[in-house]
Amino acid sequence: MCIVGGVDRVWNVGKRSRWPGSMTPRSTVMQVTKRIEFCAGHRLPGHEGKCRNFHGHNYRADITLQGDEGGLDSVGRLVDFGTIKNKIKGWIDHHWDHGMILSTDDEKARAMGFERVFWMNGAPTAERMAIRLVDEVVALFPDFNVHVTIWETPNAAATASRVRPSV
Ligand SMILES: [Zn+2]
Repeated sequence: MCIVGGVDRVWNVGKRSRWPGSMTPRSTVMQVTKRIEFCAGHRLPGHEGKCRNFHGHNYRADITLQGDEGGLDSVGRLVDFGTIKNKIKGWIDHHWDHGMILSTDDEKARAMGFERVFWMNGAPTAERMAIRLVDEVVALFPDFNVHVTIWETPNAAATASRVRPSV
């Protein structure tokens, strides 16, 4: 009994010091993530190493929608995973999958005459791809905070987030 009471007291002290004056219940933040895989080629002009050469990746895009517990539907879902897949995979398939993703200022790429190219402003890094895709996701799911992570390799990713202004 004494040990349990001591732990409880320490936890309460820590809680008060971290959120002074906040005794109101907090809502539970929910996130759902759908992973979409695709293949594409690119190159990064100006890169100091081998990434300046044309090459490809098996990319993964993690699409995360964030809301709160009160936003669950009658089934208990924030958003159906299939809905995320249907809306976003179509965009990725149409624009990025099995194509080249290249910079509009890349003269060498322009000279190659690739048939299927998605042109971007600036070098097509994972960061810029995440920013580009987060724009699409926000347009399709305007009621959620959106996080998009582009995995260029299993060990390297960039995340772009668009959070709704708090009311
Ligand atoms: Zn690359």
